[in-house]
Amino acid sequence: MATTPGLVDSYGRIARRLRLSITDRCMFRCVYCMPEQVVWMDRRHVLSFEELVRLSRIAVSLGVERIRVTGGEPLVRRDVPELLRALGGIPNLRDLSLTTNGVKLPEMAVALREAGLRRINISLDTLRRDRFVEIVRRDAFEDVLAGIRAAEAAGFEEIKLNCVVMRGINDDELVDFARFARDTGHQVRFIEFMPLDGDSIWDRSKVFTCEEILARVNAVFPTLPPRNEGTADPAREYAFADGRGAIGIIASVTRAFCQWCDRVRITADGKLRNCLFAVTETDLKTPLRAGASDDDIAALFRAGVYGKWAGHLINSPLYQKPERTMHAIGG
Ligand code: SAM
Ligand code: SF4
Repeated sequence: MATTPGLVDSYGRIARRLRLSITDRCMFRCVYCMPEQVVWMDRRHVLSFEELVRLSRIAVSLGVERIRVTGGEPLVRRDVPELLRALGGIPNLRDLSLTTNGVKLPEMAVALREAGLRRINISLDTLRRDRFVEIVRRDAFEDVLAGIRAAEAAGFEEIKLNCVVMRGINDDELVDFARFARDTGHQVRFIEFMPLDGDSIWDRSKVFTCEEILARVNAVFPTLPPRNEGTADPAREYAFADGRGAIGIIASVTRAFCQWCDRVRITADGKLRNCLFAVTETDLKTPLRAGASDDDIAALFRAGVYGKWAGHLINSPLYQKPERTMHAIGG
């Protein structure tokens, strides 16, 4: 395969991180992500492990350094450790991680760790069982807690917790989560609620902003200024002033970080998305299955990334919600 310059967009940003969605399926129905009544992708359109690895290998040859496996719930697919092993073997890939709702970790954490996975993000939006059922629409709070414990026992080098903050729903738990982060050593990442949900419940008034999150947490556990301002990391990281742990805040709505964005996504049905909020996609699956060469696919990657817009339009009247909701994009 030719060695050509990496994945550069027309604004000069370089894509170095790939979010690889391996399924749109999930056993949860989080209100901020999926509709209650969901129509799954036709399985024939979902990429095989072989196809996922091939696309990933091409992406890495184009300069992608980090891959995060996601979904839907990635662990609903059988043999994910096998996939991770294959991805981990791609030369020049520097980092492999996975985002999960945690429910399958009690049975899978050890196998994932043994497959070479070192970093894992687990979603948890509440520390209260009754509320968990309201947000996730499934009664699995204890299973997720058991999943976190299983990940701890399996010896992951880094466990982060993802918490979507919604006004009037869980914003009263921020200090509890901060305490949880301090007690466990796991960074809790508060995520502003983004307009990618399935039942169209999002509106601006439900976004509990980065500023408000910080004010709440700082009132009890003061934090230092962010240690990674101006980088491509989606979460700004705020260490606690007393040195005990940190929180992260992903402020996609109120402090968009598009100018530093280095991400590109592949959906489970093989569409390249150059932005989480993109309304157009580049089809990689059809050429892949029609016998395209690595160079042909690489050219599609480059063209898809080149066309990335300057930034999302959530804060503009021009915002157009993507057709896919979060579970089908890959968060
Ligand atoms: N099922 C896995 C999980 O829940 O961690 C992985 C996929 S999920 C789509 C990835 C992340 O996106 C989760 O942390 C979830 O909380 C977050 N997410 C989903 N919908 C969101 C929304 N509308 N706004 C902000 N974050 C969202
Ligand atoms: Fe499933 Fe994750 Fe979406 Fe919740 S956020 S419905 S766990 S894919």
